[in-house]
Amino acid sequence: MYPISIIGRQCSSAFALAASSLFLIPTLWRNCPLFGDIITTFETSKREVWLTIDDGPNPDETSAILNILKEHNARATFFAIGRNVLRWPHLANLIVENGHQIQNHTFSHNASFFWGASSKFAQKEITLCNEAILSVTGIQPNQFRAPVGFANPFVHGVAERENLQMVGWSASGNDGISYNPENVIRRICRTLIPGKIILLHESSLHGQQRGNRAHTLRNLLLRLESEGYQTTIPS
Ligand SMILES: [Zn+2]
Repeated sequence: MYPISIIGRQCSSAFALAASSLFLIPTLWRNCPLFGDIITTFETSKREVWLTIDDGPNPDETSAILNILKEHNARATFFAIGRNVLRWPHLANLIVENGHQIQNHTFSHNASFFWGASSKFAQKEITLCNEAILSVTGIQPNQFRAPVGFANPFVHGVAERENLQMVGWSASGNDGISYNPENVIRRICRTLIPGKIILLHESSLHGQQRGNRAHTLRNLLLRLESEGYQTTIPS
């Protein structure tokens, strides 16, 4: 027989573990809808997809990406990092001048620990990014994407208070991890159907040649065109 105090401690440990799991699993589940509203697809009756490009602007890629989008008459939403917007304001403005959307992707993109963000930290990251985009482009963001798609209840709460729609994705080539244009495009197109939100990145990857992101985008747009898809920004 175990003393009652030990049983009590074991029960409370089990309860703490269960409570932690209830918090952690949905937080680390990308684009999880359990803590709040998040869109990962959009309604459409046309053969179209929503192209989203994260982590810019970036002097190595943004201009080339904009040129390719123009060549293919494609539109995209850029989920920008506020710090980058302040560092390269001309590129943020170029995104807008080219008819694309610029939205909030936090100020400093702390990808490794944003999943555990407190309400205060999330508020700071989201507000500073909003202010950076507004001061540089004159545009007030109305959408937010969490770094790596990890968002806890505090992040959802801040986004709701700031009137930001949380946006996830449903077609990713994992180009933030393993980079090979053919593999990225194959993964994106594997399950592609109209109404999906495509995720691409424009940040530089260690060891990757400058312009590789643009190269992938060009090939992806060619593939989408060959399959009869157009890109759109849902209203
Ligand atoms: Zn990101």
